[in-house]
Amino acid sequence: MQDWDNLERICHSCTKCGLCENRHHVVFGVGSRTADVMFVGEGPGEQEDLQGIPFVGPAGKLLDDMLSIIDLDRTNCYIANIVKCRPPRNRDPLETEQDACIDYLRNQVALIQPKIIVCLGRIAAMRLIRSDFRITKEHGQWIEKNGVWMSAIYHPSALLRDPYKRPETFDDLLSLRDKIRETGAKV
Ligand code: URA
Repeated sequence: MQDWDNLERICHSCTKCGLCENRHHVVFGVGSRTADVMFVGEGPGEQEDLQGIPFVGPAGKLLDDMLSIIDLDRTNCYIANIVKCRPPRNRDPLETEQDACIDYLRNQVALIQPKIIVCLGRIAAMRLIRSDFRITKEHGQWIEKNGVWMSAIYHPSALLRDPYKRPETFDDLLSLRDKIRETGAKV
């Protein structure tokens, strides 16, 4: 396991998969490194790649609004992705790309030791919760894995495409707020 400085340095010069070839920035993560609540998306989009910060494009604006509903923001949680470099044309990250990158995220989780991890969307849920996770059926459900409470909610991009999913996500956010209270997670 690497400390923060080494991990960040290694990530920024990573060439373990083909996504390094066209990246402008490695998108390492943002937020509090002592947060009890962590969010994990799938991978950087165009704006994230250009700025080097997760969730700063249109989906990110919506994510900020979603977090604010339950008094979270980028200073009291941590936000990262399954892969740290942008997949071309925002396609889903390939299994091989996820495999190459996932240990960096695991290292971040080990350093942060969050009480709660919320997957943003299907890709993160399939990677971190269960490979056959069904986001439409299982969003908002909680499981405890290695002492960490885990759940998945719809990806903000999915909510931009389909606003009819928003009420369910509102309920999932309230459930997250309950879990924060129940576990005594600091926010
Ligand atoms: N979508 C993601 O999954 N992650 C980001 O950082 C931005 C958009």
